[in-house]
Amino acid sequence: TMTATVIDGKAFAAKVRAEVAKGVAKLKEEQGITPGLAVVLVGEDPASQVYVRSKGKMTVEVGMNSIEHKLDVDTSEADLLALIAQLNSDPEIHGILVQLPLPDHLDSDLVINSIDPAKDVDGFHISNVGLLGTGQKSMVPCTPLGSLMMLRDHHGSLSGMNAVVIGRSNIVGKPMAQLLLGDSCTVTIAHSRTKDLPDVVRQADIVVAAVGRPQMVQGDWIKPGATVIDVGINRIEKPEGGTRLVGDADYDSCAAVAGAITPVPGGVGPMTIACLLANTLTACCRANGLSEPE
Ligand code: NDP
Repeated sequence: TMTATVIDGKAFAAKVRAEVAKGVAKLKEEQGITPGLAVVLVGEDPASQVYVRSKGKMTVEVGMNSIEHKLDVDTSEADLLALIAQLNSDPEIHGILVQLPLPDHLDSDLVINSIDPAKDVDGFHISNVGLLGTGQKSMVPCTPLGSLMMLRDHHGSLSGMNAVVIGRSNIVGKPMAQLLLGDSCTVTIAHSRTKDLPDVVRQADIVVAAVGRPQMVQGDWIKPGATVIDVGINRIEKPEGGTRLVGDADYDSCAAVAGAITPVPGGVGPMTIACLLANTLTACCRANGLSEPE
């Protein structure tokens, strides 16, 4: 039996995109400015191709310009850096996203840190990381931002709640923990060396699973009534053949205990892209000295 409220990320994301589209229309009408998002894809990783295609489609749908640069898998670091330099200085480009992971011969830290922080709509540049960590205005990473928006929408204030983030990556776990801390949660970051993970998770009012292990988080790890944000996107084989997407939480057992849960697909994933578009609009407004959308 299921007790949890299902947090509909798909519907929420549609609302966020509609707000972004309004902001874009206003910018065009009042300022004659169209926000532009450049996405750089190196190589032909199938999952990355899917993400880039869907980002491009949604960018156009909200009325922005989408510029895609698809580079050979053996592109040199110098060529990639030269492209980023060109995008940095292009006034028509307000957001730059380099799709990760990059091929092994490219230094992703170096590449990300070559993006103009004001155009770093993924929020991965060290200067945005530092701004977020010190509570200053920054570009906030899209997946954690989308997760936070769903939590705020569901709970109102998060102040004083115990949050356990499983995963400490730079793109999800760490910025998620910073955002929850910023909202006055008591934050624990768990990872592969954490002892007694189920017991740690049982303390949580909010569980964010960002592990990359299909259906790892079990229902009996969840405190009754807790909220589960499932960031994982894992493709697994179905017993009857074919594949399907599952999260890092075992949905059925968790939903039977949790107070609220995000589904996969249809939870964090759509919110991530919506936040990317919101960040691009924000970057465009800042670049033009205009007041920012809420
Ligand atoms: P990473 O592989 O970079 O990080 C995974 C983290 O999980 C690491 O910190 C690792 O610990 C930890 N971990 C691994 N195994 C265990 C374990 N058995 N117990 C506890 N912790 C463990 O992944 P990402 O952060 O990039 O992504 C996480 C998931 O989110 C993936 O499924 C990914 O596909 C998905 N994702 C979804 C997005 C969306 O839009 N919805 C966007 C980005 C990612 P350690 O550091 O010790 O190795």
